[in-house]
Amino acid sequence: MKEKKSAEVLPGDKLAVSEEFLPGKHTYDDSGMIRALTVGSVQKDSKSMEISVKPAVEPEIIKVDDWVTGQVEGVQANSANVHIYFLNGKMTYKDFSGMLTLRGLSGGGRGARRTTPVKTGDVVRCRVFSLLNGIIHLSIDEPDMGVVAALCGSCGKPLLRGSATRAKCDECGNVEERKLARDFGTAPIEP
Ligand SMILES: [Zn+2]
Repeated sequence: MKEKKSAEVLPGDKLAVSEEFLPGKHTYDDSGMIRALTVGSVQKDSKSMEISVKPAVEPEIIKVDDWVTGQVEGVQANSANVHIYFLNGKMTYKDFSGMLTLRGLSGGGRGARRTTPVKTGDVVRCRVFSLLNGIIHLSIDEPDMGVVAALCGSCGKPLLRGSATRAKCDECGNVEERKLARDFGTAPIEP
């Protein structure tokens, strides 16, 4: 049998016996037999004597400083739930949800008047700033982050840019305040 540089394995394939190697990532010990948990290539670490499988498709992992684009699904006093559809500009099929911090932000209202920086249904681009307690904490406190697309609350047509913090509806003249991303209202929408 010819030795391949890095053998491709299927789930359940025998990789080694546990006397030779320790089960590493994406492997399991099946009563003394180390087998692959996923499709990928075999990697042996001669220092730790670990055998592992590098998955053919890297699992998507969100990291601090990544940016995501998603849709606001609900707004509370100091936070909003965001369903994430794009991770660093690439579509993700994982069911990620993040918690967008709204504290300290306003939609541009003057003085003590509270305005909503985002509304349910808005498409927002956010920065991941923490993964504390397994929650994806998001922020839009950067010029490039914020609402990238929103619909008019009165007539449902897409809003256009009015000013730095205002989006206006050409259809019905309605003006809404948001924390807008720098490129809000440009088409096509960049995820
Ligand atoms: Zn309108």
